[in-house]
Amino acid sequence: MPEHPLPRHWQPKTTETSGRWPLPPLLVALARGLKGHCPVCGQSHIFNGYLRVVKQCQNCAAPLGEVRSDDMPPYFTIVIVGHLIIPGMLILEQTKAPPLWVHIAIWVPLTLALTLTLLRPVKGATLGLMLSLGLMKEGGS
Ligand SMILES: [Zn+2]
Repeated sequence: MPEHPLPRHWQPKTTETSGRWPLPPLLVALARGLKGHCPVCGQSHIFNGYLRVVKQCQNCAAPLGEVRSDDMPPYFTIVIVGHLIIPGMLILEQTKAPPLWVHIAIWVPLTLALTLTLLRPVKGATLGLMLSLGLMKEGGS
């Protein structure tokens, strides 16, 4: 019989990972991230370029670079833009039935503009969401 028997059930990690920074309520963190500001303090910018996140907040030193949002912001952006563009396309087609070139001239530039406009604030909000939920790179705290 082994000295330390194996546990019968998996136990979740219960250590607190975000205790060093007083996190605001979820909606405040989302709003701050949406504006491109640090979700923790709301004072400093989180982007160093178009989508590159700074390593840590210059004001409160929150480890923003350890929050890996990966492909989540583009997925959220695709869902939002799709829900705006596709109904517009269907309504235009059902009411006016314009030629194909009109659809292309309207929807392609509008889709690109909306995507490029929304991607950055959506990434900021995603960062705020993930920070609030304590979803950080393994080993970061
Ligand atoms: Zn901060």
